[in-house]
Amino acid sequence: MKLLCPVCGKPLCREEKSARCENRHTFDYAASGYLNLALNKSGLHGDSKEMTAARTSFLESGSWLPLRNVLAEKLQAMEPAVTVDLCCGEGWYTRAFPGTEKYGIDLSKPALIYAAKHDKETQYVLASAFRTPLPDQCADAVITCFAPVAAEEIRRILKPGGCFLHITGGPDHLRELKELLYEKVILNEENPPEDILTLQEETTLEFRFDTDRSTLQNLFLMTPYAYRSPAAGKQRLEHTEHLSITAQFIIRTYSR
Ligand SMILES: [Zn+2]
Repeated sequence: MKLLCPVCGKPLCREEKSARCENRHTFDYAASGYLNLALNKSGLHGDSKEMTAARTSFLESGSWLPLRNVLAEKLQAMEPAVTVDLCCGEGWYTRAFPGTEKYGIDLSKPALIYAAKHDKETQYVLASAFRTPLPDQCADAVITCFAPVAAEEIRRILKPGGCFLHITGGPDHLRELKELLYEKVILNEENPPEDILTLQEETTLEFRFDTDRSTLQNLFLMTPYAYRSPAAGKQRLEHTEHLSITAQFIIRTYSR
């Protein structure tokens, strides 16, 4: 186990239902199996139970399996020993990733409970992606899917020659859902590549997937549109029984 004590930075060792450092700082494993290494418990804001439930249902429907397969293949080619998924959510991607030692880090308890219950090969940890309980240069591969990039932290934990995969939505991602919700569709803006890591490769993966009423609702609830859609758009969504939607992912590979 590579995890460090968030209080003193010493290595943690597992002792039955808790992890402990040489200074006797002790952290409990949850019943589901994830390890809570968060210090400031009140200041943490992970995805809510509702948001997590919608996203989990959507991902488990399998609509985005082509993305998960491509990511797993890309990682497999790198033969990582230590794999870290930052902002892993419910671990739907994480559990398909290769690695002899795998860590999934997230701030959402409901997501980590689900992740730990469904994947016993990964150690899931409640902690911030911007301050991970991992040592310098420990990871061969780091992945962040649809979440803010903790670039400096990623650079710190990556081994020299290690890689970072960042996945975002392309300009046409979920186009038909946006057309349903908004009168005027604003295309997704590209995230500028980080200057802390070196961009090695950029690929686009595009495919269409069909949604029924409940899958569409779950997809809607896991997007930022759930918070900022006009009432008329939400009404149109509620009356939609079926929609074929474009998925367009940009996969960027960076090296340290
Ligand atoms: Zn300690």
